[in-house]
Amino acid sequence: MSTSKFSILALKPELLSNLETLGYESMTPIQEQSLPHIMKGMDVIGQGKTGSGKTAAFGLGMLEKLDVKRFRIQSLVLCPTRELADQVAKEIRKLARTIHNIKVLTLCGGMPFGPQIGSLEHGAHIIVGTPGRIEEHVIKGTLNLENLNLLVLDEADRMLDMGFQPALDNIVKYSPEDRQTLLFSATFPNKIKYISERIMTKPIMVKVESTHDESTIAQHFYKVSDNEERMQALRLLLLEHQPESSVVFCNTKKDAQLVADKLVSYGFTTLALHGDLEQRDRDQTLIRFSNKSANVLVATDVAARGLDIADLDAVINFHIALDTEVHVHRIGRTGRAGSKGLAFSLFSDKESYKVSLLEDYLDTKIVGEQLPDMNTLSNPVMRPAMITLQIDGGKRDKVRPGDLLGALTGENGIKGDQVGKINVSQNFSYVAVKLAAHKVALKKLESGKIKGRNFRIRAIRG
Ligand code: AMP
Repeated sequence: MSTSKFSILALKPELLSNLETLGYESMTPIQEQSLPHIMKGMDVIGQGKTGSGKTAAFGLGMLEKLDVKRFRIQSLVLCPTRELADQVAKEIRKLARTIHNIKVLTLCGGMPFGPQIGSLEHGAHIIVGTPGRIEEHVIKGTLNLENLNLLVLDEADRMLDMGFQPALDNIVKYSPEDRQTLLFSATFPNKIKYISERIMTKPIMVKVESTHDESTIAQHFYKVSDNEERMQALRLLLLEHQPESSVVFCNTKKDAQLVADKLVSYGFTTLALHGDLEQRDRDQTLIRFSNKSANVLVATDVAARGLDIADLDAVINFHIALDTEVHVHRIGRTGRAGSKGLAFSLFSDKESYKVSLLEDYLDTKIVGEQLPDMNTLSNPVMRPAMITLQIDGGKRDKVRPGDLLGALTGENGIKGDQVGKINVSQNFSYVAVKLAAHKVALKKLESGKIKGRNFRIRAIRG
């Protein structure tokens, strides 16, 4: 962590005071290196993974530049997935808390078009969205980028991997040429270089070297001979270390579903996250995993991008990633913010080429360690601390987190500290409650009213 205070920057006083209340004491390395350039109006390419504080880096630059009195779209952030767009919009709103009347709008694919047009007619200062949907709005003329002065490409490598190149080019075509452009990417393949040459002006490169941090992430490698042994190795590691929250990465959607199904059959509370699932199921999975209603998430790299969990206890590579930088990005999801993380990777002879690439990259010799002994298979399977209750009412019904907390606690209810994360989406709300308290919680919700109404309520299992 860096030690520079935000106060050395000429940020608006209301932004500085808000950072203080948010507890952002000093800048993270990417903020320290990029913000001075961003604030000067320069184009910046930043190499930063999720967790580096990159959102606040471009978010603060954006809010400093914004003229709230001009109710026009001045900034646009493009993200690869809806989950990431939601997360970015949330962070920008948090940073903008002390600036009145700022309007941040998200526009993502997989959501109905009509309401988005309505929101756009009401106007906004900042748009956050996915390239395909933004492009559609731009072409239809429902989104006017004439007044845009800041364009941000977040996780640009993923957007290109997902085939968004033509959409990005098209959006840029509709944007003013004298805008400022910022690009963030975890990896730097040649295609990032090409796109930055096309759409940026004399960009400054900012690279944070902490993508692989030996001091906080302990990496362990285990050699297996076939898929059966691989599955057994996964069980052994989970049962030995009993991580409360862990992500198992797979290289294909098929593997992700298969491994998740196997783990479920062995009794692990496991969820699968990959692109073959409906958006609604993916949203629900992310909520249930991040509110601690499941211990294990089996995911593909693309689907896991929306995951924002600060305290993953372990990351397990079921297969070695196809690309070295993807490996580093995967394991960077554990051991965040200085806490110790565990990274386990399984490999077979067939993956020896990928292992040798990793050895070059990490500059060490990779030797397979001894797996926990077979007796470990009789260790008890860990149980999640929480269970998620789904309420069939959400923002549409004006339900707010406070209403749910109120409905759960009080007479015949459960205690406040038995309630975990509360997520309210458009049509549904999800509340995590302690497993031991969920029957009382269900009864209390079913017998009372929320916002004067009776909503359908159920505990999500399996
Ligand atoms: P990001 O890399 O943008 O996903 O940010 C990771 C997390 O770090 C987010 O939850 C931010 O709220 C938080 N964060 C960003 N900047 C700082 C800072 N300077 N000090 C403390 N927390 C921060």
